[in-house]
Amino acid sequence: MKRDRDTTDFRGMASRYRERADGCIFCNIDATRIVAENELTVATRDAHPVTEGHTLLIPRRHVVGANDLFQPELNAMWALSAKVRTALSASDPTIAAFNFGANDGLAAGQTVMHAHFHIIPRRSGDTENPHGGVRGVIPGRQSY
Ligand code: AMP
Ligand code: ZN
Repeated sequence: MKRDRDTTDFRGMASRYRERADGCIFCNIDATRIVAENELTVATRDAHPVTEGHTLLIPRRHVVGANDLFQPELNAMWALSAKVRTALSASDPTIAAFNFGANDGLAAGQTVMHAHFHIIPRRSGDTENPHGGVRGVIPGRQSY
């Protein structure tokens, strides 16, 4: 007889998704500032946008690093990312592309220590030479 022999103990998992940190700004985003959401993730406009429409994807659970996210959170994040980008493009035809990524850790420039991903709309001509995009994190090293 075919049986499920997986011994993983999932008891307690549901409560993990409710973990929040006192004083964390991304654990306490005002509901009025949420532009899209699903069960595990929210999206809000960045308070200091790099370009118009700059949006953050934030897991509801408090984790510091992107690598600490559970697979369902990554799935939720990706689904919300698609929704946000589609909505941004539909509302603003000048958006031609996106930079998408994370500063994962202090040395990489992370300033809010609750994991999040940036969606940065890009428009033709918004910078003199867009070549290399996020590879430009070390000035002078993105061109080859
Ligand atoms: P990072 O430097 O990758 O950790 O990004 C943090 C981002 O959060 C920056 O782009 C900030 O502009 C943005 N930010 C900081 N505080 C808030 C806030 N209360 N609501 C929305 N965005 C914020
Ligand atoms: Zn938090």
